[in-house]
Amino acid sequence: MIAPEPSVTDVAIVGAGPVGLAAALALADEGFAVTLLGSPDAPRDGRTVALLDGSWRLLETLGVAASLAGKVAPLSVMRLVDDTGSLFRQPPVEFRASEVGLEAFGWNVATTDLVAALSARTAAHPAIVAAPHQVEAAAPADDAVSLRADDGSAFVARLVVGADGRRSPMRRAAGIEAREWTYPQVALTAILGHARDHRDVSTEFHTRAGPCTLVPLPGRRSSLVWMLTQAEAKSVAALDDAGFAGAVEARTHSILGALSVAGPRGAVPMAGLSVDRFGARRVALIGEAAHVFPPIGAQGLNLGLRDVMALRRCLRGAADPGADAVIGAYDRARRTDVRLRTGAVDALNRSLLTDLMPADLLRGAGLLALAKIGPLRRLVMRQGLAGGLSAS
Ligand SMILES: Cc1cc2nc3c(=O)[nH]c(=O)nc-3n(C[C@H](O)[C@H](O)[C@H](O)COP(=O)(O)OP(=O)(O)OC[C@H]3O[C@@H](n4cnc5c(N)ncnc54)[C@H](O)[C@@H]3O)c2cc1C
Repeated sequence: MIAPEPSVTDVAIVGAGPVGLAAALALADEGFAVTLLGSPDAPRDGRTVALLDGSWRLLETLGVAASLAGKVAPLSVMRLVDDTGSLFRQPPVEFRASEVGLEAFGWNVATTDLVAALSARTAAHPAIVAAPHQVEAAAPADDAVSLRADDGSAFVARLVVGADGRRSPMRRAAGIEAREWTYPQVALTAILGHARDHRDVSTEFHTRAGPCTLVPLPGRRSSLVWMLTQAEAKSVAALDDAGFAGAVEARTHSILGALSVAGPRGAVPMAGLSVDRFGARRVALIGEAAHVFPPIGAQGLNLGLRDVMALRRCLRGAADPGADAVIGAYDRARRTDVRLRTGAVDALNRSLLTDLMPADLLRGAGLLALAKIGPLRRLVMRQGLAGGLSAS
């Protein structure tokens, strides 16, 4: 049998999760012919993402934000509660978006709704060809990368964008090393209904097993990310919906009144991953293919969307989108932001897991300083939000 002629494209995006879909739109808008390989999907486990201000502006420029109207809730206040029982425990700290001149820090949306909105937009984009197949083989060469999908179709791309998640076959094909580690925690996720209004306030309880966070959704609903030890997570996950809602209510001190489960529930083991380079051999890595860390402070997908913005800038006007100079510029552009976030989230998570006095003292002093020193609080808010890139 004669092998089919490969389809030739400027950019092949491998992986149609939220980051891959956003990258397809951003690079197609820059005038590149884009092939999107993979089936649009999102875990149906009650997971939501809090899209910070910069990410929301990116969705606006990609023409996706308007279709999420009614499905997102603003995060106007973020409250941190030290619930570790530490000797140096501090009163809750509140960050208000209005303090840094914003209406909201960001918008919380179910991951399934976000992926559906992005995928509807990619399907309508004239410069994007969708190939909903798994990539089975990738062979980078000097002038292009050859790809083979599981239906036998073949593609040749000058640039491959690896948006293929934490196990990333594209990362392996490019020969990029990843360092992986695990945490002794599992995050339980759920969509909850509640008796009281959340008033657009997200509350993060810092406990000895990690944070337990309630994030507003439209109406009297919030999403839950509750980090527990593996043994505790197993027993809480085994509860029926009523028992589960009761356990969350007790953990969150009934701040939202009576709770009920109002959607799917999930359990995600906590892990971390970092790479030594963000691109090589005509392959650029974005999203969880390049960085994974626990869901603290709504950073993961926001960082992935900042990868998309950086890649777009590096590709702008490039004659060869996979040239060494482009890949090198992208690698340099992402190093600081990604390492800073990975390190900060890891340090905060580990400081909760230890009950050593120096760590407690430092965390307590940090929270006290944040509560009392307005300029420091505003600096931290801007750092948490920014990442130094605009949506353009
Ligand atoms: C409990 C929890 C809460 C979170 N909350 C937040 C939050 O509030 N804010 C935030 O910013 N982030 C949050 N995150 C992080 C966020 O969910 C992730 O960063 C984001 O989903 C990663 O998206 P991605 O597109 O990079 O990867 P994925 O969603 O994993 O997508 C990768 C895609 O690639 C596909 N793929 C893999 N291999 C191939 C192949 N060979 N061929 C074709 N396709 C392939 C997969 O099928 C998948 O569709 C949270 C994470 C967790 C676990």
